[in-house]
Amino acid sequence: MTMRRLLIFGPPGSGKGTQAALLAERRRLAHISTGDMLRAAMAAGSELGHQVRALVEAGDLVSDELMLALVERRLEEDDTREGFLLDGFPRTVKQAEGLLETLGADRAPDGVLLLSVPDEELVRRALARGRADDNESTIRHRLGVYRRQTAPVLGFLKGRLPILEIEGVGTLEEITERIERELDAADS
Ligand code: AMP
Repeated sequence: MTMRRLLIFGPPGSGKGTQAALLAERRRLAHISTGDMLRAAMAAGSELGHQVRALVEAGDLVSDELMLALVERRLEEDDTREGFLLDGFPRTVKQAEGLLETLGADRAPDGVLLLSVPDEELVRRALARGRADDNESTIRHRLGVYRRQTAPVLGFLKGRLPILEIEGVGTLEEITERIERELDAADS
């Protein structure tokens, strides 16, 4: 079985977005990044953008209802038929429950990729990037949100889906290589 319906998890700063974009391109999966979708809505000045701006800028989560509606609509598009990679969703157990219900047995996810990186390494990387919104307290806030609200999603998914854990420390190429190795092993 080839894994073509995937979720990717990793704390902020784990390199998840970069790896997700590369993986989606290599395997021709629809890359569904909810963070990118929200930032695009903000840039376009749409109503959705206005609704979410304050939360996104603070690193807090947008409501489950809004996110589920957004993702459900996206998953109805044709390009997701041959496979998709969900990046940044689900972020809460409620979102995960809603997602599995929406996909049903026919389109159930094949597995979860988990990029694991120690906290101290995440803070070090974020500070090295030096973005204005990357001061130590915002970074720690986003990490706290991840630990409190998103890490429990993995507990919920364990036992329901295969979880492929990948060490997210090393060069971009090394991590890509590990992801491919895990997926190839699971595919065969
Ligand atoms: P990301 O680029 O995935 O880190 O997302 C950036 C921001 O968008 C997050 O800090 C949240 O404010 C918001 N966001 C993205 N995905 C979700 C989601 N699944 N649930 C709630 N908020 C989200």
